[in-house]
Amino acid sequence: MHARSPPIDIKETIDIKETIQTLSELSQEFREFCEEMKVDSLPMTWLHNPDLLGSDAEHCPFNDKHAIIFKKIPTEVDDIFLVAHEIMHVIRAMDKMPLKIKPNYSIFDKNIASVFALILRNLLEDPVVDRLLKEEHKFDPLQHYENGLIKMRNSLERRVSCGLIGGIFEETQIVFNLCTQKLMWDLIENKETNLKWIEYEAWLKDNYPDAVNARDVLVSFIEQVGLDTKEKQRRIFDVITEAFGITSMVYVQ
Ligand SMILES: [Zn+2]
Repeated sequence: MHARSPPIDIKETIDIKETIQTLSELSQEFREFCEEMKVDSLPMTWLHNPDLLGSDAEHCPFNDKHAIIFKKIPTEVDDIFLVAHEIMHVIRAMDKMPLKIKPNYSIFDKNIASVFALILRNLLEDPVVDRLLKEEHKFDPLQHYENGLIKMRNSLERRVSCGLIGGIFEETQIVFNLCTQKLMWDLIENKETNLKWIEYEAWLKDNYPDAVNARDVLVSFIEQVGLDTKEKQRRIFDVITEAFGITSMVYVQ
């Protein structure tokens, strides 16, 4: 996940060198990635905020640099893909790559608009980031994605049990999040035989049939256009904000 616009609540700075050292000892891919991309000299700060809402990490601009905020200090093998993912967001942001999607506070509730901006940034950028990590840096995202299935299912189940289902914006957010997830899982070659994916898909189709249909239409449109250039990202942004009736909620800077 990445970039939320409001100012961040800083809890504690994480020692980047020490964390990279720890994780590099656990993973050859990570060590080579850090060497190749000169990660220890990137203009960034890592912060720890155990109260981070909605995701395990986010990145945002911070005093002319980039900040990555982690919900938990990364020290384990299971954290490595997440850390590499956030670093790749920083590298791409330095290349001015992702489309700058901003919330329109003047018309909509501030929270809803910024959640939509965040979800759309993730939709357009996360699959690209993970493809680069997999194809150019030999990372295997499978374990991270399998953990993600459990998290997504838990959060959807919580919505059902709280009676939160039904709002039009909420349905749209679910469709976008499912779309991001499917685009990422499409990087896994043998996903059709992965038992965790099969089981999750069956559960999703039983509980969210309409969202799954909308997701699949969106995924095939995005795969047709592609996400690898700013122009393609822009085209997708225009089409989906129009199709889902949220053109006045978010804009491209
Ligand atoms: Zn991300």
